[in-house]
Amino acid sequence: MTEKKLPEIRVRIAPSPTGFFHIGTARTALFNWLFAKHNNGKFILRIEDTDIERSEKKYEEDILESLKWLGLKWDGELYRQSERLDIYEKYLKILLDSGKAYYCACTKEELEKEKSEMQAGGQVPRYSGKCRDLNIPPEKAQVIRFKMPKNLIIKFSDIIRGEITFDTSLIGDIAIAKNLKTALYNFAVVVDDYEMKISHVIRGEDHIANTPKQIALQEALAFPRSQYAHLPLILSPDRAKLSKRFAAVSVADYRKNGYLPEALINFIALLGWHSKTDKEIFNIDDLIKEFELERVQKAGAVFNIEKLNWLNSQYIKNSDNKRIKEILADIFEEKLPLDKINDKLINLSKDRMNKLSEFMGINDFFFELPDYPSELLIWKDIPANKISDNLKSVLGEFKNFEPENFNKTDLERMIMPVADKKGRGETLWPLRVALSGKDKSPNPFEILEVLGEKESMKRIEIALKKLKDLNG
Ligand SMILES: [Zn+2]
Repeated sequence: MTEKKLPEIRVRIAPSPTGFFHIGTARTALFNWLFAKHNNGKFILRIEDTDIERSEKKYEEDILESLKWLGLKWDGELYRQSERLDIYEKYLKILLDSGKAYYCACTKEELEKEKSEMQAGGQVPRYSGKCRDLNIPPEKAQVIRFKMPKNLIIKFSDIIRGEITFDTSLIGDIAIAKNLKTALYNFAVVVDDYEMKISHVIRGEDHIANTPKQIALQEALAFPRSQYAHLPLILSPDRAKLSKRFAAVSVADYRKNGYLPEALINFIALLGWHSKTDKEIFNIDDLIKEFELERVQKAGAVFNIEKLNWLNSQYIKNSDNKRIKEILADIFEEKLPLDKINDKLINLSKDRMNKLSEFMGINDFFFELPDYPSELLIWKDIPANKISDNLKSVLGEFKNFEPENFNKTDLERMIMPVADKKGRGETLWPLRVALSGKDKSPNPFEILEVLGEKESMKRIEIALKKLKDLNG
């Protein structure tokens, strides 16, 4: 049981196309990818689609699309297990011919009965080994089983968790194929990892129990052993396994909600890994440079959506407007009023969003003035005609502006003296309401700049009419 070292670093992710690409799988993909990049290795993508009933093409497309969006490019060809059945057959025959595997004729019902008897007797349920020496012919078989070596302690050194041992007598003879053409999970993985020369298997902690089975199969086939690293689970804030109740679980959902891929990458990198410093913002090059499996924790990693939102807001602030506009178009499609999306509006919005999906909600009043109650224009107990006079004074200042220099700095410089003379609250409050129709919004000078002179005048005229009606 020597651990042979393979020369080249080669890692893989092996998602099943049975659901949308999960954030946990994205984390596993990222850690594999970073490990490969850090060590000048290769990152292999293998689609584990042998479960024909549950696998769907749309999920495979989602896997590929999500990996591309995250920037996790795989090396070389894309493998699909469904296209590799002959390879599995070859190795199944080797095990059968050498007497290390056998046909088992036990039916589901018999196995169920055996299982409940074992559980009733306080034993760990496993296959009894009934057909091991019965020489069942293939035509009577239900499955092909692997002769698990008896009473063997399988030991492996996990890069993250240290030494782990399993007693094979608690595992029993596992099913490795339904028939020669239908290999089952653990067997296909062992064959593929060998054929693809995988040096390090980096995967979720939920796979630990598979590892001794896979090691036993590797030894039976005289394959070299990969090194293992089992990543901690991703937990909800209540420390249960991450579920949809707490956060979106598919990468596609994060994309649709306006998270930037680099923010999501930064966030999931910190789900179980930490750098030597307290730094929290990492671009991909920093991550490649600093990532080491030795700095992955054993304990579960808590998923903190506020942290993701904060990271995303930082990345939004630093993104260029052209890209933001493209992503907005992608999220809102035809609902986005493209003709009204300019640099001024994007600049103003950048500081006010955790995610780009908030864009329409925070900016709705720019696209269309909402109907608002006339009373909203009134500041404290100031009479409507006084408010009206103040707005007219502001409007009077517009005469000093050419449309092209209608900008917030100059507007503020010209309008603030008016507000100081007339009273700041009773001037700026109705101005802001007139422009936005809302009690909360950015400051009036910023809104003026984005709306432009013509639209701003139109909205102030509407407010003046409302005030007139209030006066009766
Ligand atoms: Zn049997």
